[in-house]
Amino acid sequence: MKIIVFMGPPGAGKGTQAKKICETLNIPQISTGDILRKAIQNGTELGKLAKSYIDKGELVPDSVVIGIVEERIKQDDCKNGFLLDGFPRTIKQAEELDKLLESLNKKINIVINLDVPEEEIVKRLLNRAKIENRTDDTEPVIRNRMKTYLKQTYPLIQYYEKKGLLKNINGLGTIEEITKSIMNVIQN
Ligand code: AMP
Repeated sequence: MKIIVFMGPPGAGKGTQAKKICETLNIPQISTGDILRKAIQNGTELGKLAKSYIDKGELVPDSVVIGIVEERIKQDDCKNGFLLDGFPRTIKQAEELDKLLESLNKKINIVINLDVPEEEIVKRLLNRAKIENRTDDTEPVIRNRMKTYLKQTYPLIQYYEKKGLLKNINGLGTIEEITKSIMNVIQN
């Protein structure tokens, strides 16, 4: 049973690395961002609500994402472990996750924090905006996502450090180099 939390600023390469790690460990990748974007594409009520926050670079309310994660991790394919990509993003989400896992008799094994300096992040996100056409990758929204990250998500680093779960990984380098560093800390 491996429960992995993947953290890092927007554009750190969480999604890319999470996918590789999940393929290697054969566990599902649970990306709240992907789930919300799918809901937007499908035009559901959840999608409409999520879009109003995502397009401004703000976080979707805690209760909404917690509900999504709760439903997802109770599914059968999560019984041997899973990787949370982009969740939790606030202390409240982290606390609710702890409660939820406790009620299921599970616990987080490791928290990976992909460390990338802010200037590099903005550069990467602007570049991704051109390639992926995400509506939340315009410069003002990117700056706001960074602000949101620093204010609401960054404190989680200390939260998990105190619990002895945090592993910092240098997010600069080739995709392969970074995957290797992550696999090293997961397997040790
Ligand atoms: P991501 O693809 O992980 O960068 O997420 C894209 C956007 O979805 C974020 O900027 C938030 O608006 C929203 N989102 C994703 N995950 C969460 C979360 N755990 N809590 C709140 N909002 C989220």
